[in-house]
Amino acid sequence: MATIAPIPQTGTVNPAEPSVATIAVAHGDGIGPEIMDATLRVLDAAGARLRCLPLELGEAVYLAGNSAGITGEGWDTIARADAILKAPITTPLGSGYKSLNVTLRKTLGLFANVRPSRAYAPFVPTLHPTLDVVIVRENEEDLYAGIEHRQTDEVYQCLKLVSRPGCERIVRHAFEFARANGRRKVTCLTKSNIMKLTDGLFQRVFAEIGRDYPEIEQDHMIIDIGAARLAARPQDFDVVVTSNLYGDIVSDIVAEVAGSVGLGASANIGLNNAMFEAIHGSAPDIAGRGIANPSGLLLAAVMMLVHLGQNTVAERIHNAWLRALEDGIHPADIHRPGQSLELAGTERFADAVIERLGQQPVQLEPVSYGPAKPALPAAQATPLAPPTSVTATKTLNGIDVFICARTSPNELAAKLQAAVGALVPLAMITNRGVKVWPAGHAETLCTDHWRCRFQPSAGKAFNPAMAVELLRRLAAAGIEFVKTEQLYRFDGVPGYSLGQGQ
Ligand code: NAD
Repeated sequence: MATIAPIPQTGTVNPAEPSVATIAVAHGDGIGPEIMDATLRVLDAAGARLRCLPLELGEAVYLAGNSAGITGEGWDTIARADAILKAPITTPLGSGYKSLNVTLRKTLGLFANVRPSRAYAPFVPTLHPTLDVVIVRENEEDLYAGIEHRQTDEVYQCLKLVSRPGCERIVRHAFEFARANGRRKVTCLTKSNIMKLTDGLFQRVFAEIGRDYPEIEQDHMIIDIGAARLAARPQDFDVVVTSNLYGDIVSDIVAEVAGSVGLGASANIGLNNAMFEAIHGSAPDIAGRGIANPSGLLLAAVMMLVHLGQNTVAERIHNAWLRALEDGIHPADIHRPGQSLELAGTERFADAVIERLGQQPVQLEPVSYGPAKPALPAAQATPLAPPTSVTATKTLNGIDVFICARTSPNELAAKLQAAVGALVPLAMITNRGVKVWPAGHAETLCTDHWRCRFQPSAGKAFNPAMAVELLRRLAAAGIEFVKTEQLYRFDGVPGYSLGQGQ
C-alpha cells in the first residue's frame, strides 16, 4: 500500500495573485509517491500557495474491496478542493475493477483532456525538433461510456455514445484554448466516412462552432491519415480536437515522438473541477528505485498553478525546469551519454530545478504566463454557450430486432416471415453489419448474431404497439431476440445507418 507522506503546506502569500488554493493530492502507486514528493518539494520551494489535502485512491483502495478505487471520504476531500493533483495509479489485474481515471473524469464532469507536447531539441533527442502540439481530447463519451454486453455465444458489443452537447463543449473548449493561447490552427480528427452518425456529428459540430472563430485556421482529417501525419509531420499541426478513444491514442503517439512519455503532462478540465496528472502510468518496472522522471507530474502541476491563477510561480518553475534540461541534467529516460552532462535520479532532478528557480533558459524559449497569455483558460472563465436545442419532429419508421440463432440467412428469413405474418414486412437481415438477406453472398462469414430490420411498406404506419406485438409473435415462435433498436426519422431524415458495412 502506498503511504501518504506528510504533505507540506506550501508557499507564502503574494498579494498580487489569488490567495491560497486548496488541492487534493493523490500520491498514487508505483513511482507515484516518488514523483509526487519531488513535485511537492519544487512547488514549495517556488512559493506556490497551496493547502494540500491527502487523497487516498488507487491500488490499496481497490484491494480493500472498493471496486471503484476511491472511498466516500475521497469524494469528500475532492469536494473541499479547488483542484486535484494526481500521481499515476495501478489498476489491479483481473475483472471487477473499474478504471478510476474514467470514473473520476465522468463523475466530476471533467470533459476536456488537454495534453500539450513539445520538443526540447537538441537537449531531448527527437526526429521532430519543432514539434509543438496540443491534443484536446473529449473525456466522457464515445466507447468510454463503458456500456458493454455479451449478446450471444459469439458476439460482444460496446456502445459508442456521442451527444451534441458533448461535441459542442469539447469543440468550443478547443477553439477557446487556441484563441487564448494565440494558436493559429485547430484540426478535427474523426472517422466520419464510416461512422456517419456519431463521428459525422462531431465533424458537423466542429464546422458549425468553427464559424465563431474565423481568425483560426481549421481543417478536418480522417483519423487514420491524421494519426499517421501526427507521427510523421507533427509540425503541420497546432491544436487537435478529437473524440475520446482517438484522443487517447494520438496523444500518446505525439508525447512519445516529442521525446519521452515521461515528459507528458495533462489537465482534465470541467466546469467546476479540474484534475492534473502526468500522462504516463505507475511504471511498476522502475518503482522504488528513485530513477523515475518527475517531469510529467511537475509540468502538470505547472498547468494547475496557471489554472489556479498562480501564473508567476508557474512561470518560475517552468523556466527553471527548462534550464535544468538545457544544463544537461537528465533523468534516465531522456539521458543520452555524450549529450547529457549528468544522470539525475528523481530527487536530484527536483533539486536541480529548485537550484535554478529564478533563472531562464538560454537556448530554449522561456515561457511566459503573464495574465495576457494564460497557458490554459480556466473552464470557469470560459463562457461555454448553452447546448443547441434540437427540436426535430421524430417519427417511428420501423425496428431492428437482434436475433441469436445458429442458422442461415434464408432459413432465418423464412422463420421470421412465418412468425410475423402481415404485421410488418421484413426488409433486411445483416450479420456484423453486412447485408446477408435478401441477395447475400455465400462468402460472408455469418455469426450467431443477426440484425433483422422490419419496416412498413411505403405509406403504411408503424407504432410502438406494433413493435410490442412483433416481439410477442417472435417469442411465441421460439425466436430468441437479444436487443431491439427503434428506427426513427428526425424531420424526415433517417436517424439510423442503412446497414451495409464497409
Ligand atoms: P507506464 O506509463 O506506467 O510505463 C510504460 C513505460 O514507460 C515503462 O517502461 C516505464 O518504466 C516508462 N515510464 C513511465 N513513466 C516514466 C517516468 N516518469 N520516468 C521514466 N520512465 C517512465 O505504462 P504501463 O506499464 O502500461 O502501466 C503501468 C500501470 O499504470 C498499469 O496498472 C496501468 O493501468 C497504470 N496507468 C495509470 C495511468 C494513470 O493513473 N493516469 C495511466 C496509464 C497507465
